[in-house]
Amino acid sequence: MRKVGIMGGTFDPIHLGHLSAAEEARARYGLERVIFIPNGQPPHKKSYPVTPAEHRYNMVRLAIASHPHFEISRVEMDRPGPSYAVDTLHALREELGGGVELYFITGADAIAEILTWRAPEELVKSCDFIAVTRPGYDLRRLREVTDALPGARVHLLDAIGVDISSTEIRARVARGESLRYLAPTPVVRYITTHELYVS
Ligand code: ATP
Ligand code: MG
Repeated sequence: MRKVGIMGGTFDPIHLGHLSAAEEARARYGLERVIFIPNGQPPHKKSYPVTPAEHRYNMVRLAIASHPHFEISRVEMDRPGPSYAVDTLHALREELGGGVELYFITGADAIAEILTWRAPEELVKSCDFIAVTRPGYDLRRLREVTDALPGARVHLLDAIGVDISSTEIRARVARGESLRYLAPTPVVRYITTHELYVS
């Protein structure tokens, strides 16, 4: 069975936390590739104006360009309305055909929210989950999820942990601080060129 990883997110912008989590999941679970899927319209309202999808897509493309096993998909961007994971999984199943096991990679914070996602019972039937945790992460929150969704296949990946968030990156730009070593250099350059997150 071929194993394919999926990493969904707003990626506003993509950073080394996303990339290191995806890479660790790929290596540990023997995923033949990881598909990054920037959402069109985030399903949960964000507390800030989200950057146009085309910019977020371009930054992901630049970030993964040097990795032979990382790919990007427009499937959520090109679908109108909010981007629900359950719809994306269905679309990918159709596209990839049989003989493929899908692994949805998320941070531990995101998986703990899964009960608030659309159709969680259906979602957990359509893929395995890799929850990237850190040493010391409170596993009780995750247990609430697995208790509420019997049959969910959730694998815990205790990763090295790179504590960066897109929120922090946006705040640093607004304060005029450097992004060097927090995101891939072409992404940092893209942010500067297009004057993203300046205020
Ligand atoms: P924001 O701060 O705007 O919420 P974010 O950094 O959390 O952004 P998202 O695009 O919301 O990034 O996250 C996409 C996915 O990546 C989610 O599953 C999230 O849990 C995961 N993720 C985000 N940051 C990290 C990190 N530093 N390490 C591991 N996983 C992460
Ligand atoms: Mg987040």
